[in-house]
Amino acid sequence: MVPADAGAPSPLAGPPIDLLDVAALGLEPGGGQERAGHVAFEPLLLGGHSYGVPSGRSAVQLRASAPPGGLHVHLIADVLLTGPCWRCLEQTAVEVPVETHTYHEYSAPDGDDLSSDYVADDAIAVARWLRDSVAEAMPQTILCRADCAGLCGGCGADLNTASCSCPPPAPDARWGPLAELAERMREPGADD
Ligand SMILES: [Zn+2]
Ligand SMILES: [Zn+2]
Repeated sequence: MVPADAGAPSPLAGPPIDLLDVAALGLEPGGGQERAGHVAFEPLLLGGHSYGVPSGRSAVQLRASAPPGGLHVHLIADVLLTGPCWRCLEQTAVEVPVETHTYHEYSAPDGDDLSSDYVADDAIAVARWLRDSVAEAMPQTILCRADCAGLCGGCGADLNTASCSCPPPAPDARWGPLAELAERMREPGADD
């Protein structure tokens, strides 16, 4: 279940289904089943920082169907990761929605396209599947907000909440022409 109020931790309804026995789904040939449960979520490392779920477990939903000779499973989850902002290092939360599916044909040899990486020995490796899916879906950079001012490179002050008296960083040479233009516009006679 996805909570209506985004940002609230998902309630951990149902049983642990880290490794779900396919037989426990009670699938009839051609039939379908749904399961809600929760799985362990090992923190992910990104940019040298660790991002995990506060309770260590994440709610997931599975929808499985049994076409002849195979198993088709959808995984749906809304994972709320917490970890440091890349600029200011304050703890921040990132919501990573996951909706993915996998197909497994029982007669396909390991490594074949029709053999799912997440189905083996008649069990679905739900926890590993979720972690891989979140790693793929995570944003490229994690910021507390898009315009986070970050830490001062000189004294380390958090520039979101404090100011400091460090000199401004050396201007980038590429901005030289623009700085000259700004200088000229400040000269007397220029429009204010
Ligand atoms: Zn920040
Ligand atoms: Zn400073």
